[in-house]
Amino acid sequence: MIYQRFGQIIGFFALLCCFCVSALAQEAQRPLAPEFATGTQEKRAAFGQKFMAVTAHPDATKAAYDILKKGGTAADAGIAAQMVLGLVEPQSSGLGSGGFVLYYDAKKNHLITLDGRETAPEAAGSHLFMNEDGKPMKFYEAAIGGRSVGVPGLLRMLEKLHAWQGQLPWADLFDPAIRLASEGFEVSVRLSKMLEKEKKRFEVDTTAKLYFYPDAITPLRAEDKKQNPDYAITLRQMAQHGVDDFYEGEIAKNIIAKLQENSTSRGLMTLEDMASYRTKERQAVCGSYRGYKICSMGEPSSGGLTLLSTLGMLEHFNLASWGGDNPKSWHVISEASRLAFADRNKYMADPDFVKTPGARLIDPTYLKKRAALIDPDKAMLQVSAGTPSGWKKNVKRAPDPSIKPPGTTHLSIVDLYGNILSMTSSIENAFGGRLMSNGFLLNNQLTDFSFLPHDENGKPIANKVEGGKRPRSSMTPTIVFDPHGDPFMVIGSAGGSRIIGYVLQRIIAVIDWQMDIQSALDMPHILHRGKKLEVEETGVEFAPALKNFGHPVLVGEMNSGLTAIRFKDGMLFGAADSRRDGVAMGK
Ligand code: GLU
Repeated sequence: MIYQRFGQIIGFFALLCCFCVSALAQEAQRPLAPEFATGTQEKRAAFGQKFMAVTAHPDATKAAYDILKKGGTAADAGIAAQMVLGLVEPQSSGLGSGGFVLYYDAKKNHLITLDGRETAPEAAGSHLFMNEDGKPMKFYEAAIGGRSVGVPGLLRMLEKLHAWQGQLPWADLFDPAIRLASEGFEVSVRLSKMLEKEKKRFEVDTTAKLYFYPDAITPLRAEDKKQNPDYAITLRQMAQHGVDDFYEGEIAKNIIAKLQENSTSRGLMTLEDMASYRTKERQAVCGSYRGYKICSMGEPSSGGLTLLSTLGMLEHFNLASWGGDNPKSWHVISEASRLAFADRNKYMADPDFVKTPGARLIDPTYLKKRAALIDPDKAMLQVSAGTPSGWKKNVKRAPDPSIKPPGTTHLSIVDLYGNILSMTSSIENAFGGRLMSNGFLLNNQLTDFSFLPHDENGKPIANKVEGGKRPRSSMTPTIVFDPHGDPFMVIGSAGGSRIIGYVLQRIIAVIDWQMDIQSALDMPHILHRGKKLEVEETGVEFAPALKNFGHPVLVGEMNSGLTAIRFKDGMLFGAADSRRDGVAMGK
């Protein structure tokens, strides 16, 4: 297969550098990826018959595996693993972050989604990330420090998940993380390499700096044993007394104090913002693709709708017969993605604050019309958002009265009872706002809002900052059911707005091209987020042919963090992305 001809990369190296430089110039506002790459490792799928856990770190997978073995549910295992991830993979998620859960309750044959996305402080306005000269801030100017920190939704979300779907006692789920935090965990190569590159960004907070650079200069080294006594204390508190102290007690006070410490980037968050945080239960968004039912997270994540919109257009093209080696397939996938991203960028936002078309964007009749815009031989010159039927423009929805005005990781888990957890959690940029309180880092999730309040025509941007609102996400925790309605695949990823393309590609690879799950995860990424067609270095040979279709092509590093489980012939195949440290363990 063409994917295996990695040797050709070297021949294309000069070409690649030139694409990368131009990309950097174009993307001055945002970093190329929330987390950078730290190398790849060859991986094999794990298989089991009873249960399976896949996370981004071996310690977290082991914690989930042990809970599943004891008869815990996927919810129990996910909570235990998340507590470990906050310790061993602090660059991606933790108690100071937020996330989304998509959960399949096997007994009831029912899907639940929980929205634990951060909220903007009540006092935040649409100019939060604008400078006095009327220009938007540079990304890191906005991200580092207190200004970008949203109310962390993760713990309230996990509390609710446990109340609904937990089986083992809440307190037991904290044991593996408490043990590792007290006795010390082994620092990964990835964490150490990331710290080497990040040092200057930790000047904002001495606590965080001295945790990661104990002599204030040298980063934690791979294989060091690192303890985090403050995190152990916080976890014990959460385990014994629940999460109220985090939102309403001493920990909330410490978080607010931390946001005030840095005079150049003070946070606006108050104790009331913390206390009023609520997890939202929302309906999963589902659509069909070649007879399979694909379900994912709805707004405020753009992940599910953009994924389903792209797949709905691709139904009209025979990707199976063209195959994954054929640049024509990638051209058409890219065109459908461009159309879906145009809708995403215009419409998708927190539905409690903005009237959005929602499921109208994935209506099959609408998508058929959008698909008709695609020329299989040539890239469209321009792409703009469509108008779904029944959608009245410029109608504002009043804010939901139940709302007081006011780096990323994915876990795929199947338990003994057939329940499924697909959960993505995120601190946003690697190490978030680089602020540490009570042994955990605080997010910079508010930079997922639009920095500009208005578009070039002076119209308000749906995803502008508003007090109490949740920033638009791209997280795409997904579960696929086969044409008989049985679970077929669980999947999700890290990677900012590329997450959508990462997940899309694997669904196509498994359904249309019948690839096994590990090969599907490992194949080179090829995706389009609206501006350029992006090709991972290992797939550089596709670049010339895709340019011939008329696409501007960017070749570079793409640090996904996929985890997935495939249900096949009564077996569970778990796979982790070779681009990160994750592992799968099943029985
Ligand atoms: N903050 C991003 C989002 O919610 C995810 C960042 C990442 O994947 O690292 O879409």
